[in-house]
Amino acid sequence: MKLIFLGPPGAGKGTQATGVSTKLNVPHISTGDMFRSAIKNRTRTGLEAQRYMDNGQLVPDSVVIDMVRERLAMDDCKNGYLLDGFPRTVEQAEALEGIASPDAVINIAVPDERLLSRLTGRRVCGKCQGTFHVSKLADEKVCPVCGGELIHRDDDKPETIKKRLSVYHDQTAPLIGYYTGNGKLKTVDGDNRPEDVLKAILASLE
Ligand code: ADP
Ligand code: ZN
Repeated sequence: MKLIFLGPPGAGKGTQATGVSTKLNVPHISTGDMFRSAIKNRTRTGLEAQRYMDNGQLVPDSVVIDMVRERLAMDDCKNGYLLDGFPRTVEQAEALEGIASPDAVINIAVPDERLLSRLTGRRVCGKCQGTFHVSKLADEKVCPVCGGELIHRDDDKPETIKKRLSVYHDQTAPLIGYYTGNGKLKTVDGDNRPEDVLKAILASLE
């Protein structure tokens, strides 16, 4: 199964993708995670991506497309993939058609006013990449899953979040029309408990 998770920043793509990729046994490929790991390792791609990410802007299409093309050529993608955070522009979607066309696109819909509080309260584990909301954490700095250190991402600060939301509406939301047009889009309500969103996603794939 070749799957795409679409949705605004903070919709819960990463959380849901983790559950669905285990269930369907396809690799969870998050371009955001790939860039953060490239930045940590100071690779050329990482250095190039960082200045865009820090400003809440998209990394240029050519950089992302090359990275995804290489990743999808790896052995573990033989039975499919679950892409989280890609494509984010129509140009990326068109490039993906020439690499490995998706079977279905899950659009996780959440109203803008809910996203701001989700993102400002988001903490990410530096070790297992899990994401959590501060309101549900006993200790704001310790991952409840693996004990790793929780980080407040630089791009989860209020000014950058506003920018990311506007970038989403301008550049990524047009993909809803793109994938509706080719009959692949399935929209689920992301403004629910995570376990219910997961159920809705799996049901939409039956
Ligand atoms: P979010 O929580 O907003 O979904 P991600 O972790 O997916 O965040 O991405 C973080 C940042 O990485 C984005 O704001 C963007 O700068 C960059 N990025 C990730 N995926 C892409 C992509 N497909 N195209 C361009 N930039 C991307
Ligand atoms: Zn962890």
